[in-house]
Amino acid sequence: MNVPFVDLYSQYLTIREEIDAAIRGVIEESAFIRGPYVRAFEEAFAAACGANHCIGVANGTDAIYITLKMLGIGPGDEVITAANSWISTSETISQAGATPVFVDIEPAYYTLDPTEVEKTITARTRAVIPVHLQGQCADLGRIKALCDSHGLYLIEDCAQAHLATYDGQQAGTFGAAGTFSFYPGKNLGAYGDAGAIVTNDDVLAEQVRMYANHGALKKHHHFMEGINSRLDGLQAAILGVKLKHLETWTVNRIRMAHRYNALLEGIEPVVTPVERPGTRHTFHLYVIRAANRDRLREHLSKRGIATGIHYPTILPLLPAYAYLGYQPSDFPVCRAYQDEILSLPLFPELTESQCRYVVGAIEEFYEGPLHRLEDRAVATQ
Ligand SMILES: *Cc1c(COP(=O)(O)O)cnc(C)c1O
Repeated sequence: MNVPFVDLYSQYLTIREEIDAAIRGVIEESAFIRGPYVRAFEEAFAAACGANHCIGVANGTDAIYITLKMLGIGPGDEVITAANSWISTSETISQAGATPVFVDIEPAYYTLDPTEVEKTITARTRAVIPVHLQGQCADLGRIKALCDSHGLYLIEDCAQAHLATYDGQQAGTFGAAGTFSFYPGKNLGAYGDAGAIVTNDDVLAEQVRMYANHGALKKHHHFMEGINSRLDGLQAAILGVKLKHLETWTVNRIRMAHRYNALLEGIEPVVTPVERPGTRHTFHLYVIRAANRDRLREHLSKRGIATGIHYPTILPLLPAYAYLGYQPSDFPVCRAYQDEILSLPLFPELTESQCRYVVGAIEEFYEGPLHRLEDRAVATQ
């Protein structure tokens, strides 16, 4: 059996007619840039998030960059974010001219640790960007309270957290803005690059819309210089179709994640993900921590099972951030996890038999000689 990491083609087959019709519509109406499909998707996504505004942009990275720029964050400012994210979260802080300040995570939930955030706030801190990693909300209660008491902007990186909730409220609506990615493999994925900003702030909404469109709301009326970062009509039409299925897909993801939890229970070298009470974890990723991770990964690959590592090197230890001078000991939790985390295949169409096959292969590995061999190698070092 082969188990891919995600299966976008099999998902397409389940909605083929709707997608093909939507794409034809955009072409027939030449609604490629802005236009009715973009507007309709923005409205539908704002409603899905329970936000007053949604502004489509070219990708999830730009969504963060544009938000930072329009909040006036720039040179001399510090922005606190999680050490274990995709580089978009921190490179956009630098692009805006500010300095990324990395903070360790909560051991149970893999998200920004509010206690560490508090210790890291300085007179220069202007914003905090929690990352709702794997589809699980950070501790928004404590992080929002910290932001409010210190006068900091809260920007939620929701690239992995479509339809996730915290205390019954949608991710992305707790602070100044929430930023989303619709990269194809995300829970809501386009057929190319796409992203969005959601906000309840009318002024910020207008500013980010302007900035993403050359500083203009109307053609040739440039109130400022901006950039060209628009959600295009084809992607908007595709996302509009897929958004209608997102709740069902999310429920399927959660169900299969819970199947993994149940089947993996009792495999002692494996730690399964923990859901934060009072939240809805939407399982963009299903991440275990595993003894002998690299050998396990090889074994699964030999059994036709694709896995991922999110992420192999925490951001502050990447060559890109060597100039900031961080040490591994600055991030004891996520540095230790870096060598143990393994993302198993999880997508809405994953079947019970695929799930059992993956867990069977994990069991086989830990019962077999490879695992014990590794133990000996470590013991004699
Ligand atoms: C995917 C992702 C982004 C960036 O999204 P793109 O659309 O690929 O630019 C930002 N942050 C996180 C945490 C992501 O996973």
